[in-house]
Amino acid sequence: MNILFMGPPGAGKGTQAERIVENFGIPHISTGDAFRLAMKQGTPVGLKAKEYIDQGLLVPDEITNGIVKERLAQDDCKKGFLLDGFPRTLQQAEALDAMLSELGRSIDHVVNLKVDRGLLLARLTGRRICKSCGTTYHVLFNPPKVEGICDKDGGELYQRSDDTEEKVGTRLDEYTSKTEPLLNYYNGKGLLREVDGEKDINIVTADIVSCLKGTL
Ligand code: ADP
Ligand code: AMP
Repeated sequence: MNILFMGPPGAGKGTQAERIVENFGIPHISTGDAFRLAMKQGTPVGLKAKEYIDQGLLVPDEITNGIVKERLAQDDCKKGFLLDGFPRTLQQAEALDAMLSELGRSIDHVVNLKVDRGLLLARLTGRRICKSCGTTYHVLFNPPKVEGICDKDGGELYQRSDDTEEKVGTRLDEYTSKTEPLLNYYNGKGLLREVDGEKDINIVTADIVSCLKGTL
């Protein structure tokens, strides 16, 4: 199954992706995670991406498309994939279509997690992530058992440097102007599935599974 997760920053894409890939046995490809790893390693792509990410802006298409093209060509994607945070522009969506057609593949479902803008600031500023395994928590909505410590592996939790009130505004504006119009693109292709992302995390997971299995 080849799946795309759409939705604004903080909609719950990463949280749900962790669960869905376990359920369907496919790799989770997050361009945001790929950029954060590249920044940590100080690679040329990481250094370039940092200039944009630090401002809350989208990284240019040619850099982002290159990362995804390389990743989709790897063997583990043959059984399917879940793309989270890509595409984010019309140019990326068209590039993705071209990459997939070269590989003789196509998208099966585009899941849009719908969350009102008013909720997103609280979701993003309260987000915490495990340094070692990447599991996502929220200080109020999905707290770990022990504050600051990952339930799964005891790793230390950190806050992303772009999850500040100041950067969130720019990120949400980038979403509205460049990414939201893609919903029409996929709706026109008959691929768009809408899921209410404001419900409890477990209910959202169940709704996504139903929608991927065609019963929602
Ligand atoms: P995205 O990957 O779309 O940016 P995340 O999955 O990282 O979003 O979720 C953003 C924040 O909101 C995290 O702190 C997460 O724990 C929290 N969160 C995710 N889904 C829900 C939900 N259904 N209800 C409440 N909080 C949620
Ligand atoms: P995310 O982890 O999905 O919230 O992404 C974090 C940041 O990485 C975004 O604010 C962008 O600066 C950058 N980024 C991630 N995915 C993309 C993409 N598909 N296109 C452009 N920039 C991206």
